[in-house]
Amino acid sequence: MITFEGVSKVYPDGTVAVEQLDMELPTGELTVLVGPSGCGKTTSLRMINRMVTPSTGRVLIDGVDVAGQDEALLRRGIGYVIQAAGLFPHRTIVENIMTVPALVGTSKKAARATAVELMERVGLTSAMADRYPVQLSGGQQQRVGVARALAADPPVMIMDEPFSAVDPIVREGLQAEFLRLQRDLGKTIAMVTHDIDEAIKLGDNVAVFQEGGRLAQFATPRELLANPADDFVAGFVGRDRGFRSLSFDSAASLDVAPLSEVTSGPEQLVLDQAGRPLGWTGAGLGSTASPTPTGGAFTSTDSLRLVTDLAITSPVGVVVRVDENGVADGVIRHTSLMQQLESRRRREVDPA
Ligand code: ADP
Repeated sequence: MITFEGVSKVYPDGTVAVEQLDMELPTGELTVLVGPSGCGKTTSLRMINRMVTPSTGRVLIDGVDVAGQDEALLRRGIGYVIQAAGLFPHRTIVENIMTVPALVGTSKKAARATAVELMERVGLTSAMADRYPVQLSGGQQQRVGVARALAADPPVMIMDEPFSAVDPIVREGLQAEFLRLQRDLGKTIAMVTHDIDEAIKLGDNVAVFQEGGRLAQFATPRELLANPADDFVAGFVGRDRGFRSLSFDSAASLDVAPLSEVTSGPEQLVLDQAGRPLGWTGAGLGSTASPTPTGGAFTSTDSLRLVTDLAITSPVGVVVRVDENGVADGVIRHTSLMQQLESRRRREVDPA
C-alpha cells in the first residue's frame, strides 16, 4: 500500500503543486491519477520514489516512510515507466531492459535470458533483442519501457503517461495487453494520465486531481461515473458518463422477448440453419436472400453499454441476444431496453 499523509509540495518559486494530499493506493491494484495539466499529478507520482521531496507530510510504502529509505534501494523496488519509453539510444534493447539487474551484478547470461523472457511477456519477439531503440516503432519502444520497469520484479510501479506518445490504435492495444499483464502480476501501480477514458478503462481506482494540486475524488471508475463528488469531477468525467457507466453492468439481468416476436410482422429476423442471425428483411430492408445486417448481437456476458449501442445502431431498433454458440435465443426492443434502464435507475436511486 502506498500512503500519502497530509502531503503538500511548494516549489522554490512558490508554485503550490500539491496541497494537503491524503490518499491510499491499495496493494496489488492499479490506481490512476488523472486531471488537467498542471494539477500536481507528476509531482505526486515522483514523491513515491523520492525524485521530489514533500514540503510537508509523508509518503509511506507498506507503512514505511520513503524519506528514511536508501534512495538507490528504494528505486530498485519501484519500476518507473515514462512517456515515450525514455530508452537509452546507444544501448540495445536487451541492455536497456537489463539496466537495473546489471546494476546489482546479475550475470550477463542470466540477465539476457530474463530480458528475452520479459520481451515475450510484453509482446515483443526475441529477434529484436540486439536492435537499438531507433529501429523499433513507438509502440514497441513503449513495450521495452514496460519490460525494463519489470526487470527487477519490483512490487511497486509508477508510470507517467506511459501510453500517450503513441497513436490511438497502438495505444488501445498497449492498454489491453498491459491490463492482461497486470492481471497476472498484481503489482501496486500508480499511473498518471490526463485522459479520463484511459483512467476509467485501466484503473481499479481513480484519483481525480484539480487545479491547485487538490484531490477532488478518489473512487472506483464505477463510483466516479455514477456519483461524481462535485461539478468539477462531473465536468471532467464528461457528459456521456451515464452511457459509459453502462459498461460496468451486465446484460444478464435484461428481460428479452421470445424470437416469435420477430418471425412475423413487418420486420423479420432471418436465421441460418443453425439458428444464427443473418439479418433483417421487410419494408426498406434487404431480401431474405440478402438481408440487412443486424450490426451485431449480444450475449448475457456482455455489458449494458454494448446492448444500448446495438439498440441505437440497429436498422430496426431491435437487438438480438445469442447464446455461446451464436444461436439467437431472444430479442429486445429499443423501447423495452429504455424502460428497463429507467426502472434500474429508479431502483438505484431508491432501493426500497
Ligand atoms: P501535472 O503532472 O498534473 O501536469 P505537475 O506535477 O507536473 O502537474 O505540476 C504541478 C505544478 O507545479 C505546475 O504548475 C507546474 O508548472 C509546477 N512545477 C512542476 N515542476 C516544477 C518545478 N521543478 N519547479 C517549479 N514548478 C514546478
